[in-house]
Amino acid sequence: MNPYRQYMYSYPHKTAYRTLTGVRLEMYASCLSGAGHGLYLHLPFCRTKCGYCNLFSVTGQDHTQIDRYLEAAERQSGQYEQILAPYGSRFSEVVIGGGTPLLLEEEQLERMFRMLERHFSYTDERELVIETSPGETSRTKLEILKQAGVTRVSMGIQSFSDEELHTLKRKHSAQKARKALALMKEYAFPCVNVDFIYGIPGQTADSVLNSLKEAVAFEPEEIFLYPLYIKHGAGLQKEMKKGMVLQPGEALLQYREASAYLRAEGFRQDSMRRFVRSTQGRKYTECSLGTSLALGCGGRSYLGNLHYCSPYTITREGCLAQLDRFIHMEDFAQITHGIVLSEEELKRRYVIRHLLIRPGLCLSGYRELFGTCVEEDFPILKDWKIKGYVCTDDTFLTLTETGLELSDDLGPRLISREISEKMEEWEHRNGQI
Ligand code: SF4
Repeated sequence: MNPYRQYMYSYPHKTAYRTLTGVRLEMYASCLSGAGHGLYLHLPFCRTKCGYCNLFSVTGQDHTQIDRYLEAAERQSGQYEQILAPYGSRFSEVVIGGGTPLLLEEEQLERMFRMLERHFSYTDERELVIETSPGETSRTKLEILKQAGVTRVSMGIQSFSDEELHTLKRKHSAQKARKALALMKEYAFPCVNVDFIYGIPGQTADSVLNSLKEAVAFEPEEIFLYPLYIKHGAGLQKEMKKGMVLQPGEALLQYREASAYLRAEGFRQDSMRRFVRSTQGRKYTECSLGTSLALGCGGRSYLGNLHYCSPYTITREGCLAQLDRFIHMEDFAQITHGIVLSEEELKRRYVIRHLLIRPGLCLSGYRELFGTCVEEDFPILKDWKIKGYVCTDDTFLTLTETGLELSDDLGPRLISREISEKMEEWEHRNGQI
């Protein structure tokens, strides 16, 4: 059995989105009334493309091209500001992701933060989150983040083994990552989060543990542990064709040892991927659980039953074409690509997004929201109880430890037939099957 079928970080997947007509942001803006929403800014620029990456990001964009992107994002922010004005929208979390946001030069970073402050309103306890990478983490850029009030910095380290980084086609060295992490710790951000990957060809449980031991010594507030996926146009697919193989059985053993180690070190495990130092009493809003508005090109907005973004693309040409379209866009309120979820799909999304994250799915919360019983709606959950994948204390339905390690196999089983068909159709069209 392969427990690594699909990472269900959101539902439905972007490959199930299609062309929309007659939809405008104004029609859904009331979803952003009052306080408590997420704002996401996508900066799709990277110095090099990692071998496993199939995110919306491009390499080789110069200063002027990034400036033009920021100009477009500013125009978009201005239009959104006007649309949201009657609703008193206040955002409680801003996430700046990519891409590699810190690839921006200092003045561009400052301009970006000014833009976010100028056009949007926030709650007092706003979280400001930014992703970085070891190669782009300098003292001057960290100063800018500190000045801007960043509360959480996330760095993709992936491994402290140069050999494994080479296999992943990550261009930074382990030593560079150590230095960047040490520098980041100097600035005492409220939360530093580091990402690691297991299941890398040639990797062993011991080498995963060695990387994690080094990471723990830096005392990050959070560690994310990702199984390696090579999908949808990732560069490493070429290596797979030449004989590189992923070994899910080995990856599972690595996961078990790594997760046991982190728990023993005092990290609380919140999902298959997320480990939080238990001294952290921090509230955490997982990406895409609530209402969220995206800026830039490639990020997703979640407004009630409407999810939308630019069309999903896995090629450099496709990304460049989307970027060009974004830079020349005049009317950012027109929504042309996405999905409007039915009640049934909203239920599926709710189950997927809550069950895979601790403390789990609140039974009364589901009933209050949908007026039905989750186990009647999804009889498969009763089956999972019998198999020992989920348990309940009558308040929450929670994944057991066995269920947790099978998250990427259980989650996809909750995808509806209609969404599966759309995803398969996209894959056929894009030559992935
Ligand atoms: S994985 Fe992240 S850093 Fe690497 S190419 Fe993709 S977006 Fe850029």
